[in-house]
Amino acid sequence: MHEMSLAEGILAIVEQQRAQSPFGCVKSIELEIGELAGVELESLLFSLDAVFKHSVADGAEVRVERLPGLAHCFNCDSEVPLSRRGESCPRCGGFQLHLIGGSEMRVKSLEVE
Ligand SMILES: [Zn+2]
Repeated sequence: MHEMSLAEGILAIVEQQRAQSPFGCVKSIELEIGELAGVELESLLFSLDAVFKHSVADGAEVRVERLPGLAHCFNCDSEVPLSRRGESCPRCGGFQLHLIGGSEMRVKSLEVE
C-alpha cells in the first residue's frame, strides 16, 4: 500500500531527527500534503497510527495541512489553481500547464519533549 510506505518514510524522518538531537517522544507532528500529491488522507492517517505504534512517535498528534494545486500556464502565462492533474487551464482552457504546487508531501514540524 502506497500510504503505508509513506507512513514508514515519515517515521524514518522522525528517527533521523532523533539521531541528530535526541528527544524522549514526539508530541505532535505537522505534515504538509498537496492536493495533487495522490495521497489518500484517511488511509495515510490509519497507516501512521499503525507505524507509530511502539515507536518514539506513539500517541503523537498528527496535523495535516493541505496545499492547493497550483500550475503555471504557458498558454496565457499566468498562475492558476488546479484541482486535478491533467485538467486544462481554468483561464484559457490550454493544456500547457506546469505544476508548481500541490504535489508536495513533507514533514513541516515536529513537537518533541
Ligand atoms: Zn491558461
